[in-house]
Order: sequence, then C-alpha cells, then structure tokens
Amino acid sequence: MTATVTPLSLGEFHEFRVESVDFLYLVPSGGIFAVSPAGRQAILLLREQPLAADELLAALIDRGYAKDDAEEAIRELFEARAIRDPRGHQDLPQEPVADFPLQSLVLNLTNQCNLSCQYCYEFGEDKVATPDGKPKFMSETVAKASVDHLLASSQGRRAIHITFFGGETLMNFPLLKWVVHYALGKAKEAGQYLDFSLTTNGTLLSPEIIDFLVEHSIGVTVSMDGPKEMHDALRVYANGKGSYDILAPKVKSLIQKHNTRPIAARVTLTQQVTSVKEIFHHLRNEFGFAEVGFAPVTAAPKRLYTIENNNMDRIFEQFKELAVEYRDWAIAGRMHGFSNVSDTLAELHAGINKSHPCGAGLGLVGVGPSGDIAPCHRFVDSDAHALGNVMEGGLDKGKQKEFLDKGHIGAKFDCHSCFARPLCAGGCHHEAFVRYGDTGHPNLHFCDWIRGWTDLCLNIYGEIAVKNPAFLDQFEQRKPLQ
Ligand code: SF4
Ligand code: SF4
Repeated sequence: MTATVTPLSLGEFHEFRVESVDFLYLVPSGGIFAVSPAGRQAILLLREQPLAADELLAALIDRGYAKDDAEEAIRELFEARAIRDPRGHQDLPQEPVADFPLQSLVLNLTNQCNLSCQYCYEFGEDKVATPDGKPKFMSETVAKASVDHLLASSQGRRAIHITFFGGETLMNFPLLKWVVHYALGKAKEAGQYLDFSLTTNGTLLSPEIIDFLVEHSIGVTVSMDGPKEMHDALRVYANGKGSYDILAPKVKSLIQKHNTRPIAARVTLTQQVTSVKEIFHHLRNEFGFAEVGFAPVTAAPKRLYTIENNNMDRIFEQFKELAVEYRDWAIAGRMHGFSNVSDTLAELHAGINKSHPCGAGLGLVGVGPSGDIAPCHRFVDSDAHALGNVMEGGLDKGKQKEFLDKGHIGAKFDCHSCFARPLCAGGCHHEAFVRYGDTGHPNLHFCDWIRGWTDLCLNIYGEIAVKNPAFLDQFEQRKPLQ
C-alpha cells in the first residue's frame, strides 16, 4: 500500500524586503517574521510547484543548503504558519469573549460647542446624533453613574482610562473637575490605575484650567488644522470668524506649561486643507506639539469638504514623505512626532490581529449627557445606535452583541483575502455608517490607501528593526486597545 503524501501549501502572508533581509507579515496572526535565505528559497520552491515536506527538504539540499539549515527553515515556516496543511481553513480572529471587560470610557460632557466647524460630524450634514429633547450638559448624577459603570465593568483590568469629550469639552469644565476627583477616589478603592485625557478645540483654555490639567497629568489632544489660513478655512465661530487667533496663544501656553504629559494635535484633512507637511511642521515646530496626527474628514461623497481622489493621492504622497522622515529620525534614535506612524508601528509591534476595527462597543463606550451609552463618542446622542443607558440598567448586552456581530471581521467577506485586515478589520464603524448606512460595512473606499499605508509602515518597521531595534522598545509601553 502506498501512503498518500499531502503537498504543503503556502499560508497567508505579505512579503517585504528591507536592507537585504526578507520579512513576512503573517496575516492570520499579525506577526512579523524575518525569514532566512533557506526559508525564502522554500517559499519560492512551493510557489513553483506543490511539494511534500521531504521533497521540499531534498530540493533545498539540492540547492546547496546544509541539511540542518534546511530543516530549521522548514520548521520555522511551519511554526509561523507560513507553510501549512492545505486542508487548513482560513484563520480569522475568534469572536471576542461575551463579557469583555471595559477599559475606556468616553464622557461627552456636553453636546454644545462654541465653534461651528463646517465639517463637524456632530453638527454637520452627516450627523448621526438626535439630541432633541435631551440634556445639553451632563449632570453629576449621570457622570457618577457612568464612572460607576466603568468601575463595575472593568474588573480584571489593572489600568483603565477616561476621556473627556464634547461638543466642546471645556464648556463643562466644572463637571470635568468633579469627575477627576470622584473617579480617582473610586479607582483607588478598587485598586485600579486610572488616567485621563481630553480633546478640546483649545479656545476656552485658561490658566486655571491648564494648572488643573498639569496637576492631574491629564493628556490633551487639541483639534487644530494648521497655519491660520488653513485652520480658519473651516474651524470657525457661528459668525464665520476663524478661531486661530483666539486659540493660538492659549495652546502655546498649554504646551509650555504642561510638563506632565505630551500634548498632541489632531488635524482633520478636507478638500480645502491637504498640505500635510506644511501643517505638520507648523504644529510640531512653531507650536511645539509632541505629536501630530491626521485623519481625512468623515463625510458622505460630494460634500464640499469631502476629499476627492486626486487629493487623496496627493495626501498619501505627503504621508509617505513624512513617514520616511520619521523612519530616519527613528534610526537616529529621535522622536519625530508623526503619530500616524507611531500608532501603526505600535500595532505592528504588538502583533495585533483585530476581530473589530477598534474598541468601540467592546473595550470602550461613550456616554452622552442623557446617560445613553454609545459604541463610542461619535455615536453619542444617536437613538439608532444607543446600547443602553447608565441610569437605566447600563449596557444592553443584546444590542451590544448585535453591534459587535455586524462589525466582526468574519462578517466582512470583502476583507477575508486582504493582507491589511489584522490592522484595519474593515475600518471605522462611524465612517462606514456615514458612507454606507451600515456600521458593519467595510470602508472599501479607503482600501488602496490602507494597504499602501500598511505596506509602507511594514517597511519602516523592518528597517528600524534592522538598524535601531532599541527604538521599538517604547512600543512595549504603548499597547494599543485590543
Ligand atoms: S476595508 Fe479594505 S483595507 Fe480594510 S481590511 Fe477590508 S479589504 Fe482590507
Ligand atoms: S474608529 Fe470610529 S467607531 Fe472606532 S472609536 Fe474611532 S470613531 Fe469610533
């Protein structure tokens, strides 16, 4: 009787080469693997023809590799699942556990804002919020119930996080102060480490507020769109007047005084504002922000500010140039500050393989002034997306499950053959809802961008790993929400 020999097949990976080192980005696991010359040869051989394990070993030895090296290469490829039994099924991340503990709470302290930025997802043409008849400012009672919900739902987590959001967060600064004191006391009782951050448009910062932020090490992200003419294009007051001149001195003072946490800027790119490099250097060098991150505006197609395809290409070219600058700084052991690269490198370093694009509705929820629980800050005050209320029984597990089932990578068939899925997992639920009317729809309008960006960051990761691996140690401390 003759034994049936099963030829090996190649697993799912994306190859890249840096400084004559070959790497595999292992899609099912999200790991990055430096492959030996014998391993690379084994992949080429399997690509040419189906071979069983002993045939592959013989072919490698035929090509001049020592038996030990060839065996070692095949074993490593197996362990990494870069080669495998062809009867294996597609590996997708497992369903998250039913009672995934909460890690982050976003408190929308108010749904009011003192600016009228024209592209705002909260007030603009694509808003999902239905705030009529609901409170405009969060009360202490709702804030207390929200913090209690975080504490009760985060058991088993050593570190938890509260982010303050709006509207304009600082329009409800008294409540922010109250929450910091209350939540710190509760976290101490529970033996958990709690930290805070906030997002602001910067116009209401005052010396008293800055002192409080410094004293309590509260991380701050300022929404700013660059130099005056770019910032004032869309970030305006209700009378149309730009906000740059009001916020610039306040933000500079914040950056100068806030020495307990690095201050970040978040830039929204629109059809009108696309000069990534100029904006970056203005905010990093003239203001002194430690980090500057960019995101294209979320909008339905054909809005005046929606970025058109040719501009997306232009933006990508500038992202590339800045990312290369980041790489060179990293190799020299310096912090560059382009946070889009740091965020992606942190995820690659953690070998992240997402079941969902982000923590929304999973390890993170948003709570609005009414106490409604939303998957994240962007869905706050939206009746259609509410997942319960902190004053009325907390999280509705049935609604949460429905939201998470829709957003799971397993339900996004377009993504199943995409090498970028460990990091992307279909992209932002809110973006998907605005574009496709469905939070679980993959953001297919961004795929080329995402794949280009992932490939670029893989190459940067590989080059840093080869030339200055110590730089990557910082990402041990910067574990992304999983
Ligand atoms: S949305 Fe596009 S880029 Fe993202 S995982 Fe799906 S197919 Fe890939
Ligand atoms: S990626 Fe989108 S859905 Fe996820 S937390 Fe951010 S805004 Fe919300």
